[in-house]
Parts: sequence; structure tokens; C-alpha cells
Amino acid sequence: AFLGRIEAEDGAINAFLHVDAEGARAAARAVDEARAAGRELGPLAGVPVAVKDIMTTKGVPTTAASKMLEGWKPPYDATVVERLKAAGTVMLGKTNMDEFAMGSSTEYSAYGPTRNPWDLSRIPGGSSGGSSAAVASRMAPLSLGTDTGGSIRQPGAVTGTVGAKPTYGGTSRYGLIAFSSSLDTPGPFARNVLDAALLHEVIAGHDRRDSTSIPQPVPPVVAAARQGATGDLTGMRVGVVREFDEAEGAEPGVIAAYKQAVETLGKLGAEVVELSCPHFPYALPAYYLIAPSECSSNLARFDGVRYGVRTGDDGHNSLEEVMALTREAGFGPEVKRRIILGTYALSAGYVDEYYGKAQKVKTLITRDFTAAFEQVDVLVSPTTPFTAFEIGSRTEDPVQMYLADLYTIPSNLYGGPAISVPCGLSDGLPVGLQIMAPTMRDDLMYRVGAAFE
Ligand code: GLN
Repeated sequence: AFLGRIEAEDGAINAFLHVDAEGARAAARAVDEARAAGRELGPLAGVPVAVKDIMTTKGVPTTAASKMLEGWKPPYDATVVERLKAAGTVMLGKTNMDEFAMGSSTEYSAYGPTRNPWDLSRIPGGSSGGSSAAVASRMAPLSLGTDTGGSIRQPGAVTGTVGAKPTYGGTSRYGLIAFSSSLDTPGPFARNVLDAALLHEVIAGHDRRDSTSIPQPVPPVVAAARQGATGDLTGMRVGVVREFDEAEGAEPGVIAAYKQAVETLGKLGAEVVELSCPHFPYALPAYYLIAPSECSSNLARFDGVRYGVRTGDDGHNSLEEVMALTREAGFGPEVKRRIILGTYALSAGYVDEYYGKAQKVKTLITRDFTAAFEQVDVLVSPTTPFTAFEIGSRTEDPVQMYLADLYTIPSNLYGGPAISVPCGLSDGLPVGLQIMAPTMRDDLMYRVGAAFE
């Protein structure tokens, strides 16, 4: 049924870069056979899932939406993909994204933009826009994305789906094509909070192949979502951040939906507390130094020798020329912008002033969170300052694009979990409520999210 829906709908939406119909049918058959034979089934046996194309999938094309990796078939599965298989899920295919996960709209894909199912002239968010659009358009009941600076929550918000960023290190980075290694976090998209928790629990947990993976038990997110579904938040303290309220550029319709959501939380029994996180306004600029710096280092591996395409290897060009021509042809404009910015920020004489300074801001933001969580259980905010914008309306001015991440980035720098849950409409377009929780307390955001929805 889902493959049929993809065939009918995806021509207009472009959520998938690769549909693995054969693999999906084989996986579904295997579940049927296991069931018929009375074998024990995984917790999500037979449930279809779409996977962001930044995750390696054994034998299935993986491009990270870049020309650089066109035609590449990884020899191994990412840990999260391995765990999807162990849970019995059926992978439908690989979803579109901003090239190497750099962007907020999926317009920076080398394979054309994905369109928002709510309005095909608008963006589905990014960078995991194929994954959000696939769930929003009912082409997949579940999908995986990655969130480095909002790339699960922001697309979740603008497509009216639930998107969760687990605690950094709570889900393995092994097999993700690295963007910003100190921030990259895989996580779930779903139609509701409980479904997201079910997928979260399946992919999370320690992995010794990821050096920053946390060796602790997975927080009980499914139990917390079930508990939250009773709709009682008595005893919970919910913080609203003054600095977010004062931030400029948020759409009035978004703020109205958010204010109403906070009121609802109060009606469910939560105590709403206003507090200050003085360094949050510096999160966005710090992120746009840290992420490009790490990307400039991580993307050095795409040199035309080890992976993917090679350009200019005509027997006359030097090795260095071939590398330069390969990178010139293989990377899109946003990726180049990040590599140049990051290389500059890391260069001798500037590294302390830029990368070093940004890391200090990261520490201050972490302290803001730690202090806030002494007073409250979770923090809430709108997920994004504006709803899905028109395709093409923000690509000319990168700073306008970066503003989409205003509310999401602080929790990336801190490393704690955060979820976006639909909280109404503004001018007919979905708005998301963001719930941020302390590190390794992913259960709290699921509890509040499930109570709210
Ligand atoms: N929009 C942010 C960026 O462009 C976030 C990307 C992400 O989370 N992968 O870097």
C-alpha cells in the first residue's frame, strides 16, 4: 500500500531519492514468513520506514543528496539502519535532503527540492525534508532524519509531523555521513508522539562503534509517551525562555499558536515558569561557526580518490588538480560556502578567535540549560519562527535561511533532547511546539508531548 502511495504521490512531492521496492517487498515477505512459522517478531515487525539519505544502507544507493556520491552503494549499514532491520521494519527507500544536511529547506539537494504536501509551492523544512514530507503525505508511517541544528524538529514543525532529536550520543552516529560530528544526532519522524517514541526506542542505545555514544540505558520513552497520553501534567514544571519571547522576526500567527499551546499545558496541570537563558541569542552565530568548521574537516574525505565521482582525471591534470576539479563539480553552492567559512574559522591565527570562541559560547549555553533545569523539568518554545515558506524565497540570502534555526539550535549546542509536536495552524500552515529536556531525560519531552497532542 505504501509503495503504491509513493508511486501515486511522489512525482509531485519528490520526497524519495531512491525507492527500494524490491528490498521492501522482500523484507515484508520475510516478516510474513517469520509470523507464519511462529518465530518471534521484532517490536516493529512489518512497519514501513523511510530513511534519510545521509544514512548508509548496505547495497542501497546513498548520496546525501550530493552529486559527489552519485551511484555510491555503501558496503555496510549505519547502526540505526541495522537496528531498524533487527526490529523487523521494512525500509521503503532513501529520502531527499539538503546536500550533506546543510540547509533548512531541502532546496539545496542536488536532485531538486522536496515539496511540502500542505502546499506544493512551499518547502517541507530541512535538512530532513524528504523524511518529513514522506510522513506528512502518508507515503511512510515513520521515517528517520538527522538533527545537527534543527533538521528533524524544523521539518517536523512545518509539515505538521512529530520530529524528535534524541540526546546527543543517545543514538549512534556510526554510518551517518558526517556533517558536524559534535552535534549530529539521528532521530525519528512520526504522525504522533507515541509512534515517534516507538521508533526512538528501537534505534537508541549504546554503540561501541561511536566514540561519543552514551553507555547508559535508553530512557523509557515509550512508557513516558503512554503515561503522557493520560493528559495529566500535574507536578510538571514547564519553563518559557524570556530571551526567545524577545527575539525578533517571529510570525504573529506562530506566536499566537505557541501562546495557546502554553496555556493548554497549564490547563493540563503543568506549572508554567518564566525564566532567563541569557546566552541563547548567541547560539545561532556560534553554531554557524562550529558546524561549518567541523564540516570543512569532515568533507575533506571527498577528494575524488576514495568515494564517488572523480572529475578531470584525463592523464594530464595533477593529483591536486583532479581533487580541486572533483570538489568544484561535486559540491553544491551551500556546501562550498560552509567549507570556505569553516576553513577560514579554523585557520592559524583565527582558530581561537572563531572556533575557540564559539566553543566557549557553547559552554555558556550549556550552563544556561543546566541552571534552567534546576528550576523546571522541560523548556518550551515555538519550533520555528515562521511556517513553511515559498520555495525560492530564502535561497538568495543565507542568513535568512539560517534564521529558521533560531529556536532549535540552543539544544543542539547543549546536547539535550528536544521534540517538535504540532500545535495548530497559522494561515492554514502547521506550527510546531518545541519541548526541550535535560540530557538523557528524553522521557520527559515524550511525556509532555503526548499529554499535549
Ligand atoms: N539548518 C541547519 C544547517 O543548515 C541545520 C542542519 C541540520 O540540522 N542538519 O546547518
